[in-house]
Amino acid sequence: MLSSIARQVKPTLGRHFHSRAVPGLTAAIGNTPLILLKSLSEKTGCQILGKAEWMNPGGSVKDRAALGIVRDAEERGLLKPGGTVVEGTAGNTGIGLAHVCRAKGYRLVIFMPDTQSREKIELLRMLGAEVFPVPAVAYENPANYNHQAREYAEGRAPHAFWTHQFDNTSNARIHYLTTGPEIWEQTEGTLDAFICSTGTGGTLAGTARYLREKSDGRVQNWLADPPGSVLHSYITSGGKLTERSGSSITEGIGQGRITDNLATEIEHIAGALHIPDSKTIAMVYELLDKEGIYLGASSALNVVAAVELAEKLGPGKTIVTVLCDGAYRYQSRLFSHKWLKSKHLLQAVPEHLHKYIVL
Ligand code: PMP
Repeated sequence: MLSSIARQVKPTLGRHFHSRAVPGLTAAIGNTPLILLKSLSEKTGCQILGKAEWMNPGGSVKDRAALGIVRDAEERGLLKPGGTVVEGTAGNTGIGLAHVCRAKGYRLVIFMPDTQSREKIELLRMLGAEVFPVPAVAYENPANYNHQAREYAEGRAPHAFWTHQFDNTSNARIHYLTTGPEIWEQTEGTLDAFICSTGTGGTLAGTARYLREKSDGRVQNWLADPPGSVLHSYITSGGKLTERSGSSITEGIGQGRITDNLATEIEHIAGALHIPDSKTIAMVYELLDKEGIYLGASSALNVVAAVELAEKLGPGKTIVTVLCDGAYRYQSRLFSHKWLKSKHLLQAVPEHLHKYIVL
């Protein structure tokens, strides 16, 4: 079956396209499997389902956002053939954009804090991006990587496009157009709840909105938050924004403000769960041991949250969450005895799973 993204692309190739192959890398983004997490489903009496976003070509859920942002910019005439895409991050969005930009022939320029690992810079350069490490200063400082990305793009307009993933609603839109409908079809409309954590808010807001509208409000959408994020308290306090405090080992999630991607959907979110790192890290190991799935911390946090939501809603429910990326990019930390100890998380890993701590 072609993904909905592939179906939209296929007609442009004309009548010579007679294969069941998808037309190029960007059409291989999305349409990921929905996996029943058996041990946790048995434990809770609910169906706990994980959307396998780590199976996207760039290895994460952010491939969708990268494609959605680039495609909308093309359609709006903001990105022309041979143009430049400018991004201000070192994470999964940068990797997704690098793949999409190579596949579509755009130059990609990335500004990122110089505190990021050499591996990240090297990977992005290997994928063809031009990377500019800049001093790691707070958002309020004009030298912050986000502002540098924006200024660089503005200085080269109209040939450069700043992705602005936090407030560019093309991000949530692609989840509304693809992730939401895929989950609806894969569960045949029987899901009761969707829960996931938030970085930009694109995944949660776009997917939640589709599921809410399609089910006439029957599907409950929940947010899962790591320590150091303000969204959990925003939702549970009825809309008060607090200062950020605390921190988490989870990468790519946690938010200090209501991004434009979140803005229109957050008032419809049914509730929020706050998940400590100790539970998240234990779930990284449990998912590997019981399900054979090797996932990063944000995915593990999402699964912990899905289990807690199952316990709240009671047996017989179907709960969907997002398996955002694999553990590959984090394994030197997540599976290191020294690192776990330094974060006081060694004791969070159950004794019988210590055999996986090989570094
Ligand atoms: N997990 C990981 C590993 C990520 O990189 C991100 C994106 N920053 C997310 C989850 C959250 O996705 P979103 O930006 O759509 O909220």
